[in-house]
Formats: sequence, structure tokens, C-alpha cells
Amino acid sequence: MAKAKHTGRCSCGAVRYQAVGEPLWTANCHCETCRRITGSPMTVFAGFEREDFAYLAGKPKTYRSSPGVKRSFCGKCGTPLTYESKRWAGEVHILVCSLDRPGKLKPEMHEFFDEKVSWFNTADKLPRYRSVVPSEDDSAS
Ligand SMILES: [Zn+2]
Ligand SMILES: [Zn+2]
Repeated sequence: MAKAKHTGRCSCGAVRYQAVGEPLWTANCHCETCRRITGSPMTVFAGFEREDFAYLAGKPKTYRSSPGVKRSFCGKCGTPLTYESKRWAGEVHILVCSLDRPGKLKPEMHEFFDEKVSWFNTADKLPRYRSVVPSEDDSAS
């Protein structure tokens, strides 16, 4: 069976990308940095192996929002597209709502729930984490 293809683009269409296969994880992020960058109370992410991700058109600009963190966005229209971090080297985290069919990738948890905007509520029963889910690297330290 052919692997699923998830295509996405910025608002103006100058930058287009594709991720192949199923995501490693999906999550809603409530952190302050995502909030400022998107101007929204919550950002939905899907993590893919870098080798399963590619730009199909255009070249995004990048912004270092924290040490070791690179976020990409369209230089023309400003749409935020991806997040990459040394902490998850080898992964590209896509902003799910920039996908052509965001409904296909359903979030499975909430991250940085402590930083949630007070008036924002979600009725789902997904797990809520104060920061991020501990990775195997974290448990070793
Ligand atoms: Zn654009
Ligand atoms: Zn965030």
C-alpha cells in the first residue's frame, strides 16, 4: 500500500511542502512562544522524520525562537510552517493547520498546558502535560 502523503502550504502558496507516512506523534502546544508566533491560543503539531519531509516549492525563511530551535515561515506572507529543535534532531514538526487536509492528523495530547490562555478551554479527554512528554533521553538524565 502506498504511504499517506500530507501536503501543505503557506497562505500565499509560495512555499509548499509534503510529509510522507504517518506522524511519529501529534500534539496541541499551548506554550507562549507558539502563541506569539501564531497569534493563536494553541498550535497543533505533527512530528515527522526529517527524511519523510520535503519542500515542494519555495524556500521558507527561518527564525531562531530559542537556542537550538529553528522555526520556518513564508517570507512573503509570514505563515509559520515548521519547528525544528536540537532536542529532537532528525524530526520536523509541522504546523498541522498549514496542511491541505488538517483533519487527517488528529492531535493526541496537550503540551505546555500550564501556559494555556486562561479563557481557552477544550472539552476533549486528551492527556494534558505541563511541558512536553518525557523522551527516552530525558529519563536517562
Ligand atoms: Zn506565503
Ligand atoms: Zn509551543
